[in-house]
Amino acid sequence: MGILDVVPIGEPVLRAVAQPVTDDELATPGFQRFLDDLVDTMRAAHGAGLAAPQVGISRRVFCVEVHANPRYPYKPELDLRVLVNPEVRPLTNETFPSYEGCLSVPDLRGLLSRHCEIEVSYTDREGNGVVEQVRGLSAGTFQHEQDHLDGILFVDRVEDTRTLTTWDGFRRWHEQAYAAEARALVERFGA
Ligand code: ZN
Repeated sequence: MGILDVVPIGEPVLRAVAQPVTDDELATPGFQRFLDDLVDTMRAAHGAGLAAPQVGISRRVFCVEVHANPRYPYKPELDLRVLVNPEVRPLTNETFPSYEGCLSVPDLRGLLSRHCEIEVSYTDREGNGVVEQVRGLSAGTFQHEQDHLDGILFVDRVEDTRTLTTWDGFRRWHEQAYAAEARALVERFGA
């Protein structure tokens, strides 16, 4: 198990457009080991997702997983996925308010908009093409990670900077109201 260092906001790699992964590169033991380490690092940090640029690797890869996550108690379960060269496409224009945090932006959360329903196309770690439709809060997780591959951080999308808060502040002042909205979304979309 290899835990990688998560780089913080301000590091140029978080602002770069990441490079696609070639089929040959994906098949190498070294790259497969990197994918294992990316997943291990996400789990160790209790992230709902982690993108390669967040560990200093400018490649178009991210992983997502949610199982009773203490950082995000209202997030629905999401089985582990490792997405290589993913593309995200909104299925409708409808958006929901998403209170987000990021392992690369320590102790800050803020409110932004995410599409309610998306289609995500990617290559899995074995090299197979996958197309999935994702809805609700889980769709927000995929959009957050996809942004990392294009050098975008959630703070760039926060519409009202007065919603920015520490994690303590979120729990104290925002979590109750937000968790109710989140539950309504999860009920509607089952995700
Ligand atoms: Zn992030």
